[in-house]
Amino acid sequence: MMQETNSTRRFVFLDRDGVINVERGVYTTTIDQWQWIPGALEGIKRLADAGFSIIVITNQACIAKGIQTEEGLAILHEFMLDHIRKIGGDILRIYHCPHRDSDNCNCRKPKPGMLLGAAEDFGINLAETFLIGDSGRDIEAGRNAGTRTILVDGYRADADNTLNEPADFRADNLLEATEIVIREILLEKR
Ligand SMILES: [Mg+2]
Repeated sequence: MMQETNSTRRFVFLDRDGVINVERGVYTTTIDQWQWIPGALEGIKRLADAGFSIIVITNQACIAKGIQTEEGLAILHEFMLDHIRKIGGDILRIYHCPHRDSDNCNCRKPKPGMLLGAAEDFGINLAETFLIGDSGRDIEAGRNAGTRTILVDGYRADADNTLNEPADFRADNLLEATEIVIREILLEKR
């Protein structure tokens, strides 16, 4: 059931690979493979300080392919959350899609299922949110769900960018994207 829209709380959606950690072109499944993108932790802290709740939405077809387990993913995300909380940031929830394209689910980006699910879980007006991603799949998911979109393109290592819906904004990294979000929201508040 749809909750009442929570208009006092602000939300930002983040993709994981290529936004928070380095997109390696192959799946990041273990802690030793994890590499923070410069500016990512600072951006998350900045969003937290500005009063935003952060939700991560991530495609993890590595699970459907048997390369990662749900348990392994949970361990990796605990590691990520630990570091984020240590610097004074937080992630409200992480949604992951374990499927691949051929599973024809509703959650794998560019489908909007994870965003719509989060909107229902937290009573979010998606038109008031931003999605920050590094691929066409992310941007298209945001558009399909009605969020505003920011493409970060400084750290993309593979060629998964087959869907090229233009984003509303472009930034080099999460910290720069964060400044756009805060600027745009403050402009509206005037
Ligand atoms: Mg990505």
